[in-house]
This record gives sequence, C-alpha cells and structure tokens, in this order.
Amino acid sequence: MSAAWRAFSDEMARWRDAGRTVDFWWRDDDAARLDPALARLLALAQGASVPLALAVIPLQCGEEIFERIGPAVSVLQHGTDHRNRAAANEKKTEFPATERSAAAIARLFAAKERLGLLARDRFVPVLAPPWNRLPEALAPHLAAAGYRGLTRYGARAAALAAPGVGQVNTHVDLIARHAGRGFAGEEATLGAAVQHLAAKREGRADPDEATGWLSHHAVHDAAAWAFLDRLFETCQTAHAVRWRSAPELFHVS
Ligand SMILES: [Zn+2]
Repeated sequence: MSAAWRAFSDEMARWRDAGRTVDFWWRDDDAARLDPALARLLALAQGASVPLALAVIPLQCGEEIFERIGPAVSVLQHGTDHRNRAAANEKKTEFPATERSAAAIARLFAAKERLGLLARDRFVPVLAPPWNRLPEALAPHLAAAGYRGLTRYGARAAALAAPGVGQVNTHVDLIARHAGRGFAGEEATLGAAVQHLAAKREGRADPDEATGWLSHHAVHDAAAWAFLDRLFETCQTAHAVRWRSAPELFHVS
C-alpha cells in the first residue's frame, strides 16, 4: 500500500476509534450527453452502490441521459449553459459581477424549470455553479427562486449559504487543473481528503459538512477511473464510512 493510501486509512481509523462516522459524498460535473464516459460513470455508481450527485448542464443536456439514471443518482443544476461570461479581470464564471442579480436569477430559474421537467423526481433543487463560482450577491436570491442548496468547492464557512439555502461543498478534486487535465494523483487527492477530515476532527472545519469528492467524467483517464474503483472498494471494507445522497445532505425528499 502506498503512503497516500496508508495515510487515508489511518485517518479513517482515527474516526472509527473515536466512535465517529466518516461522511462522504460524490459529485460529478458537466453531464450533458449520454457518451461512453457518462455511461461508464452511471454504471460505476450503480455497481458500487454509491449515491451520485450528477451536476447536469440544463441548456446543453439531451433527454436521453435521464432514461439511464438509476435510483442512486440525483440530478443537480450545473449553471445554465456553462458559457464563460467572465470579464477580462475575472476568473472563469457563468455569472460575472457586472450581470444584474435579477437577470442572473431569471436565467437560472428558466434553466431550472427545464431541468426539473426532464429529471422529474431525480431532480434536487441545488445549484452547482460552473467553475464553482457564484457572486455572493446572488445567494440571498436563491431560496425565492426555489433552490434548497448551493454546492461549490472548499470547506464551507457556514451550513447555510443564505437563509433557506443549505451549503455542502466538495473538497477533493480528482482532476489536475493545470497539468493536462488527467487524474490529479493519489497523493493530491487522498491528501486533500485527509486534510479535510483532520480539520473536521480537530475542530478547524465544520464537522457536520460531509467531505465531497468531485469528479469530471468527460476528462477521466484510466488512472482516474481506477482510483474511483479503489476508493469505493476501500470505503466498503472500512468501518464507519457512509456515502450520503444529495437529498439527505440538502434535506430534500
Ligand atoms: Zn463544469
């Protein structure tokens, strides 16, 4: 066993020894078409019996993907069209600071209506903004637009992003952002997981926030797929690990 897997197992053992349960969740972004990568992802979720929160691009997605979504899969809203509207001085975002809140919310709401009709009872009204970016000014308007949750990246500052809007983020990115977009490697991914778990255990992060694993099926290489297999296998044999579904995390039934 490599040092990274050893450190991961050791951290989970610390939770078990303390009589605590490790809560994980799994979000995958950029679903739009039923291509081989998405089919593989859905088969993996089904085979491993791990609940998957699939962030679907409402204005890009084909109806066929919803026929293949099993009971373990929830659909989240991944922005509207995933188009980068950033100004020259901004990082990539669908929601630039210059866009009026009312206009952004209207776009979001229209896209949400379409996705809700397509995904029906699999839809969970939670926004996963592309590139994990949303202006803070928009969060207070989400509840009135029908959202129950917001999910981005990094340990959350509070359990609610705004009144009525739960916040559960992801903390482990499987994809290397700056190095060819393949698997980020065991050291980086397991290290990030251990870091968030230890921070929760030691009271430096909200202990009630489930640790989120973020994947992007469209850019997975063989190493990324193999890693997910091993992660699910490891967690299955470990005691006191629980994979939480999006409806559980965001209190939507
Ligand atoms: Zn995306």
